[in-house]
Amino acid sequence: MQSLADPLSTLTWRNRFATLGNAFFTPVNAAPLRDVHWVSRSDALAHSLGLPDDWWQSNTSLQALAGNEVLPGSQPLASVYSGHQFGVWAGQLGDGRALWLGEIDTPAGTQELQLKGAGLTPYSRMGDGRAVLRSSIREFLCSEAMHGLGIPTTRALAIVGSPDKVLREEVETAAVVTRVAPSFLRFGHFEHFASLGRQEELKQLTDHAIANHFPELLSLPQGSAQYLGLLETVVQRTAVLLAHWQSVGFCHGVMNTDNMSLLGLTIDYGPFQFLDGFDPAHICNHSDHQGRYAYARQPQIAFWNLYCLGQALLPLIQDQDAAVEVLDVYKTLYPAQLDQRMAAKLGLKEVKTGDHTLINEVFKLLATERTDLTIFWRRLSQAVAGYATGHQTAAFDKVGDMFIEPSAWQVWLGQYLSRLAEEDLFRSAKSMLACNPKYVLRNHLGEQAIRQAKMGDFSEVATLLKLLSAPFDEHPGFESYATFPPDWASSISISCSS
Ligand code: AMP
Ligand code: MG
Repeated sequence: MQSLADPLSTLTWRNRFATLGNAFFTPVNAAPLRDVHWVSRSDALAHSLGLPDDWWQSNTSLQALAGNEVLPGSQPLASVYSGHQFGVWAGQLGDGRALWLGEIDTPAGTQELQLKGAGLTPYSRMGDGRAVLRSSIREFLCSEAMHGLGIPTTRALAIVGSPDKVLREEVETAAVVTRVAPSFLRFGHFEHFASLGRQEELKQLTDHAIANHFPELLSLPQGSAQYLGLLETVVQRTAVLLAHWQSVGFCHGVMNTDNMSLLGLTIDYGPFQFLDGFDPAHICNHSDHQGRYAYARQPQIAFWNLYCLGQALLPLIQDQDAAVEVLDVYKTLYPAQLDQRMAAKLGLKEVKTGDHTLINEVFKLLATERTDLTIFWRRLSQAVAGYATGHQTAAFDKVGDMFIEPSAWQVWLGQYLSRLAEEDLFRSAKSMLACNPKYVLRNHLGEQAIRQAKMGDFSEVATLLKLLSAPFDEHPGFESYATFPPDWASSISISCSS
């Protein structure tokens, strides 16, 4: 039994999704795991949720986040959704291994909690409902890393591990990640009801989403105007998200419509990767044989996915031309958003005529030699800081050193310096160091933490969490986490299996 003082037992639950009714989900309890233990937890997230510092020290917290106890007020359920996978309609999918615990009131607003890897649900299909320690560490770290970078994402509160065995390519052990987000609604939730012609439920779900997650749309006339407004907002948020991803070299790996968040959050971390060397054609998911989700294709794929959402909402919007017009905004909004993000990375206060060319040219330059993306931008930021004090181009030598064939770099640097002349260099340098991260979750860093964790040592997970939560800080003594990847990094193979 929980004691009254137990922090998770005193949460205030709202569970608005659960009021929608059984057409939208199936109530289901988590399957227990044996001998559970903490692997890691995000104190920063716990703090923003209003939990006390020692929240994790109670056995109830551990058992609840393992799925072994139901917290008072929580109504565990698995939701139903469908989706397009790799461009093909896949029919019904649903939460096959994620359980919604419900919604809690927090100082950061209402937040939904999910346990990922909590056991079988009616939507598990051929799967076992479990997640392995390896992929749970990746999801946990990347969620918090994205947040640290200022990129919209679902968050991760904790990982619980268990010696219970899970079969993947080899036998691994089980883990559960507690995910946190204002809403876990996906494009696929809407596609599900639209594909079945169940317009009543489609309307009910969309009205729920608008009332609870896009309340600003309620000021529009009820009906098609609000639905069109919803589509427009999702288009905008998705454009913002994709500009973020592309600017830091983040590859999602499985941009199926069921992995697209209605709120424009990064969701479902699987075979994701931060690019090391800049290769636009890079495919991070070894199961993606066609390269559908290659880095450079992500913005177009997002647009394709938005069309699927638009198609699903069409029975409510009713006006196809208006829906297409709203969708087409993406074509200009995404490039504008990307230019804005890249201008910030270059230390430019605003995007001016000609900046788009400068940005395109730097992408070309980086692609030619597959220059390490994160190190390039960080060195460039430091170079501008040095240049601000003495106006010596030698400040850029460490950036130039990254190119085997320096002539293209020299040409670009010349153009960049003349553009920088219009800026307050000290402001530029400061803002560059605050938007070009020193630390990103490179595959090999995650891999090292996973190898140690498999042997019961979670200290690397904790170290990475600390660095990645504040990726723009210098963290003296941790420089080895910000260097070029070792040779073996390119041989890490990440598939959908998790
Ligand atoms: P994903 O590719 O991870 O986004 O998953 C696609 C679908 O497969 C979703 O409906 C997941 O819930 C489901 N799924 C993935 N892995 C498992 C698993 N191990 N057990 C049950 N369902 C799973
Ligand atoms: Mg998924």
